[in-house]
Amino acid sequence: MSATKRIALILIAIFLIPALFFSVYEISSLSKDEKMIEQIYQKQLEAILFSVNQISDATVNSWMAKASISQKEEHTKGELPPSLNNLLLLNSSIQAAFVVDTTHEKGTIQLYSLDSSQSANSKNLVEAALMKSNEKIQQLLKYRKSGFQKIESIPSMDPTFQNLIFIIDGNANPWQVAGFTIDAELFIENVVGPQLNKISKDQFNLNVFNKANNNRVYATDQRDTISIQNTSLTKDLWVFPNYSLAITPKGASLQQLVRQRTTTNLYLLVGLDVVLIVALVLAFRSVKKEVQLAQNKADFVANVSHEIRTPLALISMFAETLEMGRVTSEEKKKEYYSIINKETHRLTGIVNKILNFSQTEAGKKKLHAQPIQLHLEIREVLSTYDFHLRNKGFVYSIEEINDTTVLGDKEAFTEIFINLLDNAVKYSNETKKIEIRIGNDEKMGFVSVRDFGVGISKADQKHIFDKFYRVSSGDLAKSRGTGLGLSLVKQLLEQQGGRISVDSELGKGSNFIVYLPLV
Ligand code: ADP
Repeated sequence: MSATKRIALILIAIFLIPALFFSVYEISSLSKDEKMIEQIYQKQLEAILFSVNQISDATVNSWMAKASISQKEEHTKGELPPSLNNLLLLNSSIQAAFVVDTTHEKGTIQLYSLDSSQSANSKNLVEAALMKSNEKIQQLLKYRKSGFQKIESIPSMDPTFQNLIFIIDGNANPWQVAGFTIDAELFIENVVGPQLNKISKDQFNLNVFNKANNNRVYATDQRDTISIQNTSLTKDLWVFPNYSLAITPKGASLQQLVRQRTTTNLYLLVGLDVVLIVALVLAFRSVKKEVQLAQNKADFVANVSHEIRTPLALISMFAETLEMGRVTSEEKKKEYYSIINKETHRLTGIVNKILNFSQTEAGKKKLHAQPIQLHLEIREVLSTYDFHLRNKGFVYSIEEINDTTVLGDKEAFTEIFINLLDNAVKYSNETKKIEIRIGNDEKMGFVSVRDFGVGISKADQKHIFDKFYRVSSGDLAKSRGTGLGLSLVKQLLEQQGGRISVDSELGKGSNFIVYLPLV
């Protein structure tokens, strides 16, 4: 496994996997928390409605107790017993109280009401309701016999007037059915309403709906136009099951707050993961770069050692031969001297390149910008290089698109151009042709050096300007180098406000274009 792959795996194992596990765990527990809080909240709403129901229940129970007592009170015939009279006076929702007199064979209903005009009608309604509720009456009797007194609503003919019945101890008969006819909506208004208002404060909207038509019959906040379907929780009113109590929190509900928090947490977690991933990618990239650089440096040392060793071996071999005086022919001697000279030049070239590079990289090389007439400068370099190029079998052409003068350091420019020429020679095969073009666009002057050699793959094009980088495939021995040339060229250009670009295709050749600012 390569070093970079190993580092990638280590980074993923140490940072990414735990972070992702943590995120998944947190996200799943977030929704669990949300559910739990919602449940608790729902229970609380239930408790509130429960308390309202309890209070209403207690109220009608107290009415029942008072009515039971009043039954035993002395009172003038035709008039209401005093405590019942009081009860009806104080509670306007009670339309009438009634008791079924069973002293006669067929029970007659005795109805007490403050408004005598209603009596006859009310009596009929109560009678009809009682006839239908025999089962419930039997049940209440059973309770009463075992010592419990319960009050319950029975279905009514008229939805606005509901009947509540209970069993009392009769005077003659042991048990008698008694009850109230109650204006349900008035009851809600007078008894339930104040409780709802007490609870509501600024936190809840409490409403009562008629279940038959979903009409709202009471609201703690008239401005609130909520319908029964949209309330947070509804519960039947125990006393009058055809009405529903409904509760909705004011403003942002706890669920909304919890949800908001959950979403914020979720975004934070996802954001954190994204940041982590980006950081890991960046870290990995820089590590990869460092590893690559280390690898390139190692290659560089090997390359340079090889580069230096070859000329040194040649020089020492020919110098030794000459020293021994074995070479007699003057022609041979001359050839050997020339080899020694050439190899010494090559050595100097390598050493200079390395020194140059280290100086430029350290920023120690001072450049002096001056106008450079590109065609003159290039022709001058080529005049010294002409022999070398022809000797190697190269032909070259110069095309001057327009007369161009750039601003740059002459020495540095020569170095840049020679580097490109050298590479063109080094990386050419059979087609030994170099095309040089000079020109300018609006801001920059350019020189391009095109060869028809081995070319560079797209992947390698990204790296050839990195220091020490050499394309590893191909015959290294045939084209030796340090991997410093293009890096040096790029640095020199950048220091002068210029740049370099390459256009190349594997097997077809390369075109390097150098740009420098116009004067
Ligand atoms: P060196 O030539 O000493 O190896 P450079 O920095 O000059 O170093 O070039 C880096 C790499 O770019 C070279 O190893 C070579 O593979 C590639 N390269 C440079 N110039 C050319 C060219 N004209 N044609 C093909 N490949 C090239």
